[in-house]
Amino acid sequence: MALLQILDPGAKPKPIGIDLGTTHSLVAYVTATGEPVTLADCDNETLVPSAVRYAPDGSVVVGKQALDAAAHAPAETFLSIKRFMGRGSADVAKEPHPYKLVGTDGAPRFEVGAGRAVTPVEVSAEILRELRNRALDELGGVGGAVITVPAYFDDAQRQATKDAGKLAGLDVLRLLNEPTAAALAYGLDAKKNGTFVVYDLGGGTFDVTVLVLDDGVFQVKSTGGDSHLGGDDMDRALAELLAGDAAANLTTDSRRALELAARQVKHALSERDNVNADIELPGGARVTRTVSRTDFEQAIAPLLDRTLKAARRALRDAKLGAADVDGVILVGGATRTPAVRRAVAELFGKEPLTSIDPDRVVALGAAVQADILAGETGRDDVLLLDVLPLSLGVETMGGVVERILPRNTPIPAAAAQVFTTYADQQTGFELHVVQGERELAADCRSLAKFTLRGIPPMSAGMARLEVRFEVDANGILHVSAKEQRTGIEQSVDVEPTYGLGDDEIERMLLDAYEHGEDDVKKRALTEQRVEAARILDATRAALRTDATLLEPGERELIDKHVVALEMAAAGEDHHAVARAIESLDHAIKPFAGRRMDRAFREALRGRDLGGLESETAHAKGIESHLPQGERDGRTQVEK
Ligand code: ADP
Ligand code: MG
Repeated sequence: MALLQILDPGAKPKPIGIDLGTTHSLVAYVTATGEPVTLADCDNETLVPSAVRYAPDGSVVVGKQALDAAAHAPAETFLSIKRFMGRGSADVAKEPHPYKLVGTDGAPRFEVGAGRAVTPVEVSAEILRELRNRALDELGGVGGAVITVPAYFDDAQRQATKDAGKLAGLDVLRLLNEPTAAALAYGLDAKKNGTFVVYDLGGGTFDVTVLVLDDGVFQVKSTGGDSHLGGDDMDRALAELLAGDAAANLTTDSRRALELAARQVKHALSERDNVNADIELPGGARVTRTVSRTDFEQAIAPLLDRTLKAARRALRDAKLGAADVDGVILVGGATRTPAVRRAVAELFGKEPLTSIDPDRVVALGAAVQADILAGETGRDDVLLLDVLPLSLGVETMGGVVERILPRNTPIPAAAAQVFTTYADQQTGFELHVVQGERELAADCRSLAKFTLRGIPPMSAGMARLEVRFEVDANGILHVSAKEQRTGIEQSVDVEPTYGLGDDEIERMLLDAYEHGEDDVKKRALTEQRVEAARILDATRAALRTDATLLEPGERELIDKHVVALEMAAAGEDHHAVARAIESLDHAIKPFAGRRMDRAFREALRGRDLGGLESETAHAKGIESHLPQGERDGRTQVEK
C-alpha cells in the first residue's frame, strides 16, 4: 500500500483528527464526500491501546502488543501515560505506578533500561507517531492535525500535548476539547443555539461538560468529573461480586485475572440479561457463576451515583437546571452499559444521543475541526470557545490574589489591569502569576514569577504597571507587564514546569468552597493591614520631615491614633482596622492640608510636587522584592 502512494505524488495531504485517550487512541479524517471516518489497521481495529513498551532490545512497541506485555514487563510498558502529561516529578512520585522515576524535580523521566530515560511527552509522541503512520499509509500524506484534550487540561498539560505532537512530526493545527469535538461530530453546530451536556465515561476517568451553542459559537460553560472513576471500577466491582466470599482472600495475580475476565462479562452484560461466567484463576482455582444484569447493576449503582452527582454540580456551575439541557451526548466505551444510559436519561428527562459510536465520536469531531481549519470544506464559520478551568491572577501586597481572568472565562481571552508601586523609590516589580480560587496566593498554584526592572525611582503610587493576560486558542497563557510612563516591558509564556491533574483541580475547587468564608475574612484583614502599614509609614515620614508644621497638641493626638491603629492591625478584626485607619486619616487631615499648601507654594516657586501626588490611590500595590541596595543606590543617584 505504501508503494502505491509513492507512485502517486499528486495525493494531497489530508488534515487529520486525533483522540489521544488515556486508555485508547485513534485517528480520523474527512473523506472527499465530506464524511468523517476513523482509520483502521490491517485487522480492522480502529482503537489503538494507549500503551507503549520500550523493549530490552531497544525497539519501541505501541498498541495491543505493548498492552499484552504490560503484565510481565510492567516497568518498561507505559499505560495511562496521559495522567502524567504536563505534571512535575513531585506530583508523579505521589501516584502509585510501576515505573522507575529518575530525578526529583522538573519534568518526570522514567528509566527504561540501559541508561535510557523517557518523558511522558516522548511516550505520548510514540502513540501519536503510530497514528500518524497509520494515516500516512492510508492517505499518502498528512496535512496538519487537531489533537483533543480534556476540557479541564491546564496550560502545562496542553503544552505537553502540543510538544508530543511536534515530536511525532505532526503540524498541530490546534488542540480541541474532547466534549466540543463530540458535539461537532454530531453536527450540533448546525443548530445555531442550544445547551448540551457531554457525559464521557472512559476506562479510568469520568468527565462531564456543559456546552452552550450561541449563534453558532460553542462555549464550554463548565466542566466537572472524577479523574479516578470509569469502566475499570466497574470491572473491580464485578470481580468482587464474582468472587463472593472468597474476595478477601484473593492473591494479587488472581484478583488481576478475575478483573480481566470480569471486563469480558461486563461487555457481554451490555448485550444480554444473564451471563454464565466460568473463569480459571492462576493456581487452578475456578469461579463459576451466573451473573444477571440486575446483580451487576446493583454492584455499580454507587459508581453511577458519583457520576450523576458530578453532572449535577457541573449544571449548577453553569447556572442551569436539567430541564434547560437540549441534548446529552454519550462518550466513552463505558457508556455502552445500559444502566449508564438509563441513569443519564433519568437525570436529564430525555434519551441521550448515542447514534455515533461512543469510542469514536471524539476522533470524528477532531477530524471535522481539522478539515475546517485546513480550509478543506469552505466553512470557517465554527468558532470554538472553551473555558478556563481555574482563575488566573497575580499576587499583590500582603499575598492577596487579584484575579485577572476568572474561572470559566471563554477562551481565547485577554484582560489587563493596572497596578502601582507600594513603596517610594521602588525600581522593580516582582510579578507572581497564580492559578486557583483561593484569596491568598499561598493557597493557590504558582505558575510563574518574573521581575520588571529599571523603572526610574518614583513616589509610591506613581508608577503605572499594566499587567496583561492572554490565553490563546490552545489554552496557553502569555503574561506581559508594561510600565506605562517609561514603556519598560517584560513578558513571559507560562512554561509547563509543574503539572496539575483534574483531581487536583477538583481538590482546589473544593478547598475554595470549603474555605470561602474564612478566606474572604483573611483577605479583608490582610488588605486592611497593608493599608494600615502604608498609612503608618506615610504618617511617620511626614512627622519626621514636616514637624515644624504641627500645631500645639496635634502631635499627641496623631500619636494616639497611630498607637490605636498599630494595636488594631495586630488584632484579627478587619472592621476594627478599617475604623482605626479612618480615625487616623481624620486626625492627620489638618496637618496633611498644611503640607499640601506648602508643597503648592514651593511648586509655584518652580519646585517639584511629585511627593504629594497620588493619582492611583485606588490601584493595588505590588511590593518591590529587589535588593535593598539597588533601591537605595538609585535613590541616592536621584538626589
Ligand atoms: P478512554 O477515554 O479512557 O481512553 P474508552 O472510551 O476507550 O476510554 O473506554 C474504555 C472503557 O469502556 C473500558 O472500561 C471498557 O471496558 C469499556 N467498554 C468498552 N466496550 C464496552 C461495552 N460494550 N460495555 C460496557 N463497557 C464497555
Ligand atoms: Mg476518551
